[in-house]
Amino acid sequence: MRAIVFEGFKSFPVLKEVPDPTPGPGEVLLKVAGAGACHSDVGLFHDFPEDPTGLMSPPFILGHENSGWVEALGDGVTGIERGAAYLCYGPIGCGRCRACSRGQDTYCERPGDVGYLANGLGRDGGMAEYMTVPARNLVPLGDADPVDAAPLADAGLTPFHAIKRALPHLAGGGKSALCIGLGGLGLVGVQILTALTGAKIIATDMKEEAMKQAESFGATTVPGGENQVEQIRELTDGRGVDAVFDFVGVDPTIKLAASVVAQRGALTVVGIGGGTYPWNFFGLPYEVNFSSTYWGTIEDLHDVVAMYRAGQITPAVERYSLDDGLEAYRKLRDGELDARAVVVPHS
Ligand SMILES: [Zn+2]
Ligand SMILES: [Zn+2]
Repeated sequence: MRAIVFEGFKSFPVLKEVPDPTPGPGEVLLKVAGAGACHSDVGLFHDFPEDPTGLMSPPFILGHENSGWVEALGDGVTGIERGAAYLCYGPIGCGRCRACSRGQDTYCERPGDVGYLANGLGRDGGMAEYMTVPARNLVPLGDADPVDAAPLADAGLTPFHAIKRALPHLAGGGKSALCIGLGGLGLVGVQILTALTGAKIIATDMKEEAMKQAESFGATTVPGGENQVEQIRELTDGRGVDAVFDFVGVDPTIKLAASVVAQRGALTVVGIGGGTYPWNFFGLPYEVNFSSTYWGTIEDLHDVVAMYRAGQITPAVERYSLDDGLEAYRKLRDGELDARAVVVPHS
């Protein structure tokens, strides 16, 4: 079959012929419906000088936002229908530690025993005609479109997990939330906040078009620039924002988040931008919960699919054939995409 293969750090991926995969015990073979191109893939082949985790040794097939139809079952797999459409939970942990037991393979206590992080991150992913996935990682899509669903495996799951964790800060009247950065994750974040909370949702980005989209999902937008902090604070009657989500994670965005978060608020850095923040006792309002989150749980992904099927989340998607997949990655690297690029191998 053909696949987009990551062959080394600091080198652009290649489209090539690879052996057809076969499902191991407890796994299924999926005919790939869609594979989302995520910015962290650009981190792999363009930004990182070497493997920051020790668990992503090339070569492997890219794609950690995957959906597909069940083609074949590995040994011991029952209760899964051939031909049915599923969304894949990407992370693959040991399956037995405390974190994996609650469906949070991202925080597996024994990742070294597994040897890779996820489909598309150390183990072959979905930028191919077929892929294998542990049956435990499959979330049924029913009759929902599996291609548009693909990016939700990360661009939906990651904001959902961060927002769900911060929901206690948004319970009550007169609450507010802020999304910094309106790429794939931030725009889905606005939709999740609209669906799950009664909070005033504020959004900010440098791109005019992204702000328009956020407004269409119910957000009040504030442009970047000189009075950004003042304008955001004004929208909260000067009290500050109860839950801030930084989907970028660079120095200026973390600084912005810290400048507008309310007393007893939540500041969640979701974006892996490598930014730092010089914390000190009086630097943040009292009792601010300042944390990172990484991806989400299998249970979260079931919730995300339920919201997608209910029409509460609509990812903006641009479809590419496998032949054009490398062009999608080039555009992603060069910042030329306005929507999530999804590779559709069987188009
Ligand atoms: Zn990703
Ligand atoms: Zn584990």
